[in-house]
Amino acid sequence: MIRLRPDLAALPAYKQGRIPDTTERVFKLSSNESPHGPLPSVVDAIAAAAAEVNRYPEAAASALADAVAQRHGLTPEHVVFGGGSVESVSQVIRAVAGPGDEVVYAWRSFEAYPLLVVGAGATPVPVPLTEDGRHDLSALRAAITDRTRLVILCTPNNPTGPAIAPSELADFVASIPDDVAVLIDEAYLHFQRGLDADPGVALLRRHPNVIVAHTFSKAHGLAGLRVGYALADPQVAETLRKVAMPFAVTTLAQVAALASLAAQDELDERVRGIVAERTRVTDALAADGWRLPDSQTNFIWFGLGEDTLAANEVFARHGLIVRAFPGEGLRVTIAEPEASEAILAAAAELAASGLTNGLRAGERAQA
Ligand SMILES: *Cc1c(COP(=O)(O)O)cnc(C)c1O
Repeated sequence: MIRLRPDLAALPAYKQGRIPDTTERVFKLSSNESPHGPLPSVVDAIAAAAAEVNRYPEAAASALADAVAQRHGLTPEHVVFGGGSVESVSQVIRAVAGPGDEVVYAWRSFEAYPLLVVGAGATPVPVPLTEDGRHDLSALRAAITDRTRLVILCTPNNPTGPAIAPSELADFVASIPDDVAVLIDEAYLHFQRGLDADPGVALLRRHPNVIVAHTFSKAHGLAGLRVGYALADPQVAETLRKVAMPFAVTTLAQVAALASLAAQDELDERVRGIVAERTRVTDALAADGWRLPDSQTNFIWFGLGEDTLAANEVFARHGLIVRAFPGEGLRVTIAEPEASEAILAAAAELAASGLTNGLRAGERAQA
């Protein structure tokens, strides 16, 4: 038997949201995917490129880099692609941290962070979220030591939903030593309302230690193709390219992402639809007394604590596959209007059977 690294044995494996078997009539609300199939122009681009897959992809993805750079008012030198932005996060971690180095992030947040940090041989420093599912920025700042090489901020946060206010984000970055990297993971940025600028990119312009990660998997609905990117100071970006998985972004992913950027109006319409659905669901839940974190994403979070697994069964009975974090809560993707109806029906059943962990007004949390 080969000697596997002992630090990996203790690490829980990444769990994919359950994939429904095809005979069930269910809504898969466990992976924050778009309920929409790809736009017709995206399908056409993929189909046209299918005839060329005997060739390696263009490693630099230069047409896509130009389009992404233009979108953000940056240069292609700022853009580094990954096989999904989970690879971008991995590139950043491996570019700055190794054995003996610490990576600070809020917890609970994106499940991949601890896996990628430990995978890089570095030490994870998780910092608990506040009661209302927000980043505790002063605690994160206090967790930074001489060993800290990177702070990861997930805004809006997966799985709880709130975003860090741009002014607080700016104050936080300004208060961090400039030799510590700050990775701002904006996977759900499209769903965030009330912004007049892209908060991560605005900070990157002023602070070369800021790196921003975006993905085509969520709002663009291209999760199955695997393409995301980091935006970074060109010197930092050059190092990210050195640790990138060669050819991770396939030709099909490149042309699809390019076509999706070109169809911005149709995409915005879809995002508006999801946000409207989110508003409808959260308003109805609030009217029924539920006090949930403020979601700026395409999902909502029920912090059901010890009631989580029982509540998961209730959602399943309503035909909903959701993401359960035992002992903590349930994350439920906002998707089709029919799924929203089922979410509201399941929540009403939770309320009626007392599976609420004190989350509804007038109730008290379990001791
Ligand atoms: C989904 C997600 C990502 C990236 O997903 P990819 O499919 O790898 O692009 C990154 N960060 C967070 C917080 C996410 O939820």
